[in-house]
Amino acid sequence: HNTRVLVISDIHANFDALKAVLDDAGEVDETWCLGDLVGYGPDPNECIQSISEQPNLKCILGNHDAAALGKISLSSFNNDAGLSVKWLAPNLSKISMDFLVSLPEKLVIGNVTLAHGSPINPIWEYLLDTSSAKGSFKNLQTDLCFVGHTHVPLAFFQSSDSEVQGILLKEDLTLQITGKAILNPGSVGQPRDNDIRASYAIYQPEQNIWQTYRVQYDIEAVQSRINTSGLPSFNA
Ligand code: ZN
Repeated sequence: HNTRVLVISDIHANFDALKAVLDDAGEVDETWCLGDLVGYGPDPNECIQSISEQPNLKCILGNHDAAALGKISLSSFNNDAGLSVKWLAPNLSKISMDFLVSLPEKLVIGNVTLAHGSPINPIWEYLLDTSSAKGSFKNLQTDLCFVGHTHVPLAFFQSSDSEVQGILLKEDLTLQITGKAILNPGSVGQPRDNDIRASYAIYQPEQNIWQTYRVQYDIEAVQSRINTSGLPSFNA
């Protein structure tokens, strides 16, 4: 039996997208969640409950989760993101808050570091290009680092001469990982790579394989819940 790890990030309180991903992934041995469970979407409590029930869960804190807890200032958020965080205060249950409070900013599992943004600045740094990835590799204690935050599925590789290469990950791609790599599964609830479907990855540690997947879900249902929830309509 090869271990299958479901890797998800940036769910953003989109329960339809999360359900579609969990269904599509099927049975997995572990689930690693890279943060931003809440923010923007209408279903924060449903998403937190569902994620917290996944077997062998490892989960870290994202910037929206940290803001919901009042751990970071809203001044760094754009207007709709800030309003979405404020919306959480009366809408997040005590159980959900307690779960978010329990999340670490960073985790190391074997030879993999989990960080929402980057290993250097787990809450905030966006790894969008090879120059920012280079800095991360320099500070990475493990061979691999799984990140979210950009909402774009991509991979950075560091070859032996410390050159860094980045590639956008298309759906159904199977990557054989060699050497040091930073991998992003994309976003479950709010993709930003012009593919509206939910994005996730399956990691197989024994074989060092990373696979990316996209899955359709009922977007209109989520849009209508956003529009009746009091969240900024831009989120829909
Ligand atoms: Zn996010």
